[in-house]
Amino acid sequence: MIDLHLHTTASDGRLAPAALVERVAAAGVTVMAVTDHDTVGGLGEAIRAARQHGIRFVPGIEITAVEDARDVHVLGYFFDRRNAGLATFLDAQRADRRRRITEIAARLAALGIRIDADALIAERAGRSIGRPVIAAALVRDGHVASIAEAFDKYLATGAAAFVPRSGAPAREVVRVIRDAGGVASIAHPGLHRDPELLNRIAAGPDDVDAIEVFHTEHDEDTTARLLAFAEARGLLVTGGSDFHGDDAGRTVGLGRIALPDAWFARLADRFAS
Ligand code: AMP
Ligand code: FE
Ligand code: FE
Ligand code: ZN
Repeated sequence: MIDLHLHTTASDGRLAPAALVERVAAAGVTVMAVTDHDTVGGLGEAIRAARQHGIRFVPGIEITAVEDARDVHVLGYFFDRRNAGLATFLDAQRADRRRRITEIAARLAALGIRIDADALIAERAGRSIGRPVIAAALVRDGHVASIAEAFDKYLATGAAAFVPRSGAPAREVVRVIRDAGGVASIAHPGLHRDPELLNRIAAGPDDVDAIEVFHTEHDEDTTARLLAFAEARGLLVTGGSDFHGDDAGRTVGLGRIALPDAWFARLADRFAS
């Protein structure tokens, strides 16, 4: 079973890389990619653990691009994880994440809610930070009852303490991944609010190499529609569970959502070194 979309504690996953590898091995995964948000920090530990479990490991990343002020997740695979251009780009992405956390805390302060952004940022030194960290602090301090409520009330797009992200468009993110020797895939297009977005950013192989067709939150119709889209546009296909941990949502896909072997072979034939 091939799962090319997995998160660790290097970003917003619950399991450290070695523990994630244990978990996915137990679920029957034989080829895996770790795709943390805007960091390759989990890859080294995951590679060593995968080797011990006899799992084929593909280096991965999930980079947040911005299109029309909305987040678009772009997956990368088979790149050189030590590529300097990629490292510089990811450093800037994580710096912007810290800026955003600080600004969200300022908005919360204006609403009378005090969150120590500097402490949260310090706790996550070397890893990428995101809104879930603020959500957890809001739950911990009793301001809301759940992560979901934290997003609904304060953190989601348009909510009371929402701060937009600034960042590169998908085209630029695709270029960074390709320049590092990798293949770029638009993550979970079935979750895009704007159905026209995919036409703009994935019209064909000039724009991006692949789209993610198989994903925990794609129903049967969506999967079929995206597969037809990829085939019509001459795009490659990726897929994975997007597992973040057993208590983190999107849990049902692990061991169930897989990239079919034939699609993986096409990717690997072109991009694996
Ligand atoms: P950020 O990277 O700071 O934009 O945060 C995005 C992350 O927040 C996503 O990867 C999800 O894990 C999480 N997230 C986004 N919206 C929600 C929501 N409504 N409820 C819970 N978690 C969410
Ligand atoms: Fe995530
Ligand atoms: Fe994503
Ligand atoms: Zn993901």
